[in-house]
Amino acid sequence: MSSTSRITLNRLALANNLAFLRTVIGDHAIFSSVVKSNAYGHGIEHFVPLVEACGIDHFSVFSLEEARRVKHVCAPETRIMIMGHIADEDLPWVIEQGIEFYIFAPHRLRETLRVCRELDRRARVHLELETGLHRTGLEEDELPGVLELVIQNQALVEVAGTCTHFAGAEVVSNYYRIQNQIREFHERVRWLQDGGLDCGLLHAACSAAIFNYPETILDMVRVGIAQYGMWSSQETRIRYLQRGDREGVTRSPDPLRRVLRWSSAIMDVKEVAEGEYISYGYSFLSSRGMRIASVPVGYAQGYKREISNQGHVLIRGSRAPVVGVINMNMMLVDITDIPDVTIGDEVVLIGMQGDIEISVSSFSDMVHNLNYETLVGLPAETERLVVDRPLPARRNGL
Ligand SMILES: *Cc1c(COP(=O)(O)O)cnc(C)c1O
Repeated sequence: MSSTSRITLNRLALANNLAFLRTVIGDHAIFSSVVKSNAYGHGIEHFVPLVEACGIDHFSVFSLEEARRVKHVCAPETRIMIMGHIADEDLPWVIEQGIEFYIFAPHRLRETLRVCRELDRRARVHLELETGLHRTGLEEDELPGVLELVIQNQALVEVAGTCTHFAGAEVVSNYYRIQNQIREFHERVRWLQDGGLDCGLLHAACSAAIFNYPETILDMVRVGIAQYGMWSSQETRIRYLQRGDREGVTRSPDPLRRVLRWSSAIMDVKEVAEGEYISYGYSFLSSRGMRIASVPVGYAQGYKREISNQGHVLIRGSRAPVVGVINMNMMLVDITDIPDVTIGDEVVLIGMQGDIEISVSSFSDMVHNLNYETLVGLPAETERLVVDRPLPARRNGL
């Protein structure tokens, strides 16, 4: 291993997740694989081809830079959709490449039309409707102007889709807010259609919504976290299982499998006598003679400092507690109770070793993070490998 840690992507886990998600969304909807933020830390260049190999040909990203990276590795006919930011000066490139993008405000539509006229090219756009998230999206009073412009300029813009995004479909306490959004979305789409617009593909659902609001599985879904083998929230998983129980359907407690595993190797081993402070400052005092291993991963690599003195890693199939504060590029772990540990032994930071797993969610819970935050903090520069690791037997816990 030349980098200080390694991320492996399990092709079999991904294939399992995509097959399972297809059963959830049905045969009809297009699956758009959301690969923003370096494919949720998995690595765009490694992840995108794996997804394509499973028959998916639509990817969603946030920014131009991400679109560029996807474009670099994907098949020519694969569709890419930018859901977020594009600087005005980059619009010509996006349009020339045939990359789809959101019209999230009237100014984006006006600028798009100007560029299309200049280039003599047609843009493929998605109208993002504001329905209650109050982030980006066309407001109700902006729709008449947008409709008129689009209808007048059909030669310059193709409305490939019309969409919205929910304000937290992963927690039941947002139920009424989401219901409201679903209603608003359909009303506004109908209004646009009555005005003579072909709205293209309708899409609204993210991972949580395909489980919690299956009625929002429309022409396309935009799925991020679930394809990587994680739930948007524990609640989403439990609700999915409960619904199965109510309907008398046997559901696997663990239908999603983690694609990613993050590991490193022991750099050095030291004996520390009783009564010594370990790592910076005074946060950990050895209560006995201890064996301490150093691992070359720290907060610069996304191993959060809040995990100091709390977390554990896996070595030789056992848990080794993190001792002392996490340094910028290193952490120390207690291996006193694990026999025969030597320099170079594998250290699992996230993922399985033997029968034990450190899940992203347990890792995230420790630092009061979302799964999402932990994943996107994973080091971009670290070595990534694709492997075919057989999936472990189904378990009850996560
Ligand atoms: C990130 C994102 C998604 C995917 O969300 P997941 O919860 O990861 O499935 C879908 N739509 C939009 C607009 C997003 O920003």
